[in-house]
Amino acid sequence: MGIFSKNKSSAPAIIVGVLVVALVAFTLCYEYFSNRNRYADVDDAVIEVHFLDVGQGDCAFIKCGEKTMLIDAGDTSTQITVERYLKARGVERLDIVVATHPHKDHIGGMANILKKFDYGEIMMPRVVFDSPVYLDLLEVIDDRGKTVTKAAAGDVFTLGEAEVKVLAPAGTDYEEMNDYSVVLKISIGGRSYLFTGDAEKTSESEMVAAYGDGLRCDVLKVGHHGSDKSSSKEFIVAARPTYAVISVGKNNSYNHPSPATLKTLAKVGAGVFLTYEKGNTVFYQKPSGELICRTEK
Ligand SMILES: [Zn+2]
Repeated sequence: MGIFSKNKSSAPAIIVGVLVVALVAFTLCYEYFSNRNRYADVDDAVIEVHFLDVGQGDCAFIKCGEKTMLIDAGDTSTQITVERYLKARGVERLDIVVATHPHKDHIGGMANILKKFDYGEIMMPRVVFDSPVYLDLLEVIDDRGKTVTKAAAGDVFTLGEAEVKVLAPAGTDYEEMNDYSVVLKISIGGRSYLFTGDAEKTSESEMVAAYGDGLRCDVLKVGHHGSDKSSSKEFIVAARPTYAVISVGKNNSYNHPSPATLKTLAKVGAGVFLTYEKGNTVFYQKPSGELICRTEK
């Protein structure tokens, strides 16, 4: 009897417990299915181009078929953000890692990534830089028995079905370190994506002279965080991007992006995405060629 009484008195508690479990299960299922729906329409993307929100810095992750590429890895302060982002997407290996140039806001987070992930080739421009972050990175590469591929204008390689052309640097003697930036154009299925690192107007004018309309792209990673030292009118007119992503931190001390750059981009009708406003910004290219953009903060 004692047992029955006990059961009787705890019946409401059991009902509440069952309801709580049911509610949790429902919430989890709902989240699972709504997330699945969120990505269901881009499951068949031929290429995914992710611009990560790494504050004042650059980091782009590209997936084409089973092949993956990382262009820059943000500053040291956001290295865990980048690591978590890649791990959350099931990335175990980066086939190609590109350090556009040796500045900290591009390579600060790279040593950590190279320690945590398997990787194939690492590319850099042919320039040396005397900074602890850069020298640390070289040491990490050396420790893994890897060598650096020096990228220069004219090189072409593939990432899965995509063709990747190196458009810059063309020269070997620039005054500005930013002009050594490795500039890449990725093309697939009639669309293309242009990644300019921090290339300034000197490199831009060389590219306009060498490629002209060949700079045309659907998505442009705007040079140098939207600074007015980049994005010359001629370069932006040649590229005529449909979408322009500016990788930039909120209230940064450089006052990036500059109003001049925003005006130039507006003139060619580009849709502008600022990473500090939109968060991570991802473009999915469907087999039909349709581009779907998703942003998340
Ligand atoms: Zn930079």
